[in-house]
Amino acid sequence: MMNKLIVILGAGESGTGAAVLAKARGFEVFVSDASAIKPKYKEMLDTRGIRWEEGVHTESEILSADEIIKSPGIPDTSPIMTKVIKKNIHVISEIEFAGRHTNSRMICITGSNGKTTTTMLTYHILKEAGLDAGLAGNVGNSLALQVAEAPHAWYVIELSSFQLDNMYDFKAHIAILLNITSDHMDRYDHKMQNYIDSKFRILRNQTKEDAFIFWNDDPIIADEVKKRLPAATCYPFAETFKEGVSGYAKDKKVIIDTINGLFTMEQDLLALTGTHNLYNSLASGIAAKVVDIHNDSIRESLSDFAGVEHRLEKVLRIRGVDYINDSKATNVNSCWYALKSVNTRIVLILGGTDKGNDYTEIEELVKQKVRALIFLGVNNTKLHKFFDGKVTIIEDVLSMEEAVSKAYRLAEKCDTVLLSPCCASFDLFANYEDRGTQFKKCVYNL
Ligand code: ADP
Repeated sequence: MMNKLIVILGAGESGTGAAVLAKARGFEVFVSDASAIKPKYKEMLDTRGIRWEEGVHTESEILSADEIIKSPGIPDTSPIMTKVIKKNIHVISEIEFAGRHTNSRMICITGSNGKTTTTMLTYHILKEAGLDAGLAGNVGNSLALQVAEAPHAWYVIELSSFQLDNMYDFKAHIAILLNITSDHMDRYDHKMQNYIDSKFRILRNQTKEDAFIFWNDDPIIADEVKKRLPAATCYPFAETFKEGVSGYAKDKKVIIDTINGLFTMEQDLLALTGTHNLYNSLASGIAAKVVDIHNDSIRESLSDFAGVEHRLEKVLRIRGVDYINDSKATNVNSCWYALKSVNTRIVLILGGTDKGNDYTEIEELVKQKVRALIFLGVNNTKLHKFFDGKVTIIEDVLSMEEAVSKAYRLAEKCDTVLLSPCCASFDLFANYEDRGTQFKKCVYNL
């Protein structure tokens, strides 16, 4: 009998990892990427004797698959996926596939904002406590690759809604849902409920022995939890104490209360500042308590975490003006938190590829705090339509260099220049890292 054929669409980090694992488990494997495959991934495939193609999708091959592992970046509306769906071929994500081949414990983090920060922080706590942990999902190496070649007892996994969409039997032993605000509406038929349902897939297959950690102040999450009655043991967290919450702040102390006992620490000692980061710290802290890590160890890790690049990252102070790189703010809500966490007048650089943004959410904060807006994008029409007349100074620029030099001229002493774009970066930059790195370089060159 022929081996089952697994076709992998997209040969990035996750696709290549999935191919390596599939091959190691004895499947027939074919990898197809409509764009060029990075040399590093080609080499990984070649050394393991895995067949691949780039620049095309050979339909006859793809449509003969028994199962398809799809990169989260490929939408269901793409020409190849339309055919795959029509032919009823089962499509899964790399995480789903990897989950079938391991019994390791999984801590999974999702939400509209704060995923990477919380994932990295949780991973830091586990590692510092001496646990054998791997980092996977949208950060670190692919889960499948680790499962195949360098397995760990624990995985801390950042999950986007796109990954969750193609997960079925996978189970998170500890699930964290940080928040739900409008994002990626273009991929969800512009229906918020579709996006919410996708995020809640993180609860699939959980039982009472598993943990569900969520932000209870989020009206959407609180509502859905009431409707869905999760099977897992619930650990809600909130900014201040409410009946039933497991984590909160009170009298400048962080308090976490789980079946594994009480944890407290001075809020001032948290490495990550700002309200949104209190939430991220609470979520990670609860997960750490559920894992039963010692309080001293959790305290130390929550206070010495170095933060993550491109997330409210302080770059420099020049002539009394602070420059902050928040290039990862690719939606309106994350920009809202950035604006909220800055206590000075702001020159805000925003713009890029719009994902169906509604700027109403930041309107008040912009009116209160923003001295000047700099639109950095190929097409700024939508931004002008919304902000014209609301802020006195608005400038359009087409490069980071121009943006930073304009900001330098417009900012007054004690202001903050904030790059928090609300948008994806693909119109002018390779990705948000490239955008943030260019920002930092331009600031250093001032
Ligand atoms: P994600 O991985 O979900 O995109 P990141 O940790 O990379 O999240 O942070 C993305 C942006 O969201 C950054 O601008 C950051 O300052 C902001 N942010 C971080 N945590 C939160 C949170 N809990 N709520 C809202 N915004 C947040």
